[in-house]
Amino acid sequence: MSNPIGNRKPNYKNKNMNKQKIGWIGLGNMGVPMAKNLLKANYEVTVYNRTKEKEQELINLGAISAASPQEIIQKCDIIFTMLTNDNAVKEVFQNETGLLSKPGIGKLIINMSTISPETSRYLAEISNNHQIEFLDAPVSGSVKPAQDGALIILVGGSVGNYERAKPLFDILGKSSLLLGDIGVGSSAKLAINYFLALNIQGLAETVLFAEKNGVSRENMLTIVNEGACGNGITHIKTPSLLANQYPVAFPLKLLYKDLNLAKNEGLDSPLFKPLFESFLQAKDNGLGDEDVMAIIKNL
Ligand code: NAP
Repeated sequence: MSNPIGNRKPNYKNKNMNKQKIGWIGLGNMGVPMAKNLLKANYEVTVYNRTKEKEQELINLGAISAASPQEIIQKCDIIFTMLTNDNAVKEVFQNETGLLSKPGIGKLIINMSTISPETSRYLAEISNNHQIEFLDAPVSGSVKPAQDGALIILVGGSVGNYERAKPLFDILGKSSLLLGDIGVGSSAKLAINYFLALNIQGLAETVLFAEKNGVSRENMLTIVNEGACGNGITHIKTPSLLANQYPVAFPLKLLYKDLNLAKNEGLDSPLFKPLFESFLQAKDNGLGDEDVMAIIKNL
């Protein structure tokens, strides 16, 4: 039977041959589920993690392991970084086997770690000096939204780079917003994490005040969640408050880090100061590796 487009039958086996090759650096609590979602979407994903054992889960699902960020910039078209903080990201860019240690003209690096707007602008500048494109794209949402591909991606950078990344953002998140120039994504992330910290602190204080005056924790959480004050965070944190156990989704030390970044950006509103002190104290009292909701143990 003749084929209307000649002999070019669709080749499903090679349906991904035109797809960009993806590099993923940083396989922590967030990086693992996010990179998994790209693999599930049939992208070729090459991963690098400083602690190599953490790559195994992804390799079992078909990811390729790279010896260094340098290998990633050589092999991949679009590279994501999902690392702890400013210093970690700078190291991965700048050390002798880092992302900028070999030519990568025209490639796109997308930083999704929460870092300062200033560091985002610095990374864009040093990348551009190597003719490498850069996007500032931290995320709102924790491990569960990362697993579900339901993050909100807060982007700073050019329209062209955003459009290039958009098909990948659509896999990782339920929405992505281009907010302005490089650094504006990071500023938005610091603002939403301030609001998150207010919610966490407020929920803990409310529950403790109620308990002290004879209202059970369970009843108080029902009142919060059934009424206008209930929100995503109060619902998500209710099971751990009821069990009084705080398995880590977002470690307290990382929220403290973000409050500190916000402080450095000039946040000094009336509620911010005591909030910052509360998280600093909780971290110093050994709660840094527990979930943010463990702030209640310090109050
Ligand atoms: P995490 O579990 O602590 O993972 C951090 C990753 O960074 C690990 O892969 C770690 O490698 C790597 N790393 C740290 N220092 C490094 C260095 N000097 N060189 C190379 N690699 C280094 O953190 P996470 O929870 O995935 O968070 C990652 C980022 O997303 C943070 O900026 C965080 O603030 C932000 N974030 C987190 C959440 C959340 O709910 N967890 C939500 C939104 C945004 P090793 O495995 O070798 O330690």
